[in-house]
Amino acid sequence: MATLKERLTLVEQRIAIACEHAHRDANSVVLLPVSKTFDASVMREAVGLGLHRFGENRLQEIAQKAPDLSDCDVQWVMIGSVQTNKAKEVAKYATELQSLDRIELARALDKRLQDNGRTLDVLVQVKTSPEESKSGLAPELLEGFLRQVAELPTLRVKGLMTMALLSDDSHAVRECFVKLRTWRDRMQALTIEGISLDRLSMGMSSDFEIAIEEGSTEIRVGSALFGSR
Ligand SMILES: *Cc1c(COP(=O)(O)O)cnc(C)c1O
Repeated sequence: MATLKERLTLVEQRIAIACEHAHRDANSVVLLPVSKTFDASVMREAVGLGLHRFGENRLQEIAQKAPDLSDCDVQWVMIGSVQTNKAKEVAKYATELQSLDRIELARALDKRLQDNGRTLDVLVQVKTSPEESKSGLAPELLEGFLRQVAELPTLRVKGLMTMALLSDDSHAVRECFVKLRTWRDRMQALTIEGISLDRLSMGMSSDFEIAIEEGSTEIRVGSALFGSR
């Protein structure tokens, strides 16, 4: 069994090689460790290795682990779907939400954030895969959605996020990433005030090299770092 430190080194090497292939600076891709299902002691070890932002997909799990890590510098990044009635928990725990996909949630969050006197960085999750199980906003609805979110004072849109098709067909996976980048470019050309779309969160353990080739600025890596779930 490799240690967390060894797996982190391997992931960093994979990122460096992918960046080299894509003629990109290795510093242009941020690693977001996804710690879901791994307990606080594992996260504590990761903090010791210099990791501080962690992706989680369930608010309940964040609430469970947060007290055990209150003495650590940990930032919670919510990457899973959020029910509208859980806006309060997002405002309480998350430094960032990468799975914003509907206006009801955006409005509920804005209300809570105003109550708490804070802002929240968000990425809009876009559905780029035909799979029924994948969530996210239909890309055709992006423009209208961005214009509505731009009116909400506490939400800071920083970019887009997607989950690619789960498939061995690398062409089909790549198509998802190309779709996200293409829609980002289209939306960026509209220059909507208050909306920044510099960040593209795409790529996971099994497909991040392809995502990096297609312009990902942030990869969300769980199993390759922490082991299988
Ligand atoms: C679990 C998860 C990941 C990480 O998946 P791995 O295949 O373990 O790297 C990335 N993004 C989201 C939204 C997830 O839920």
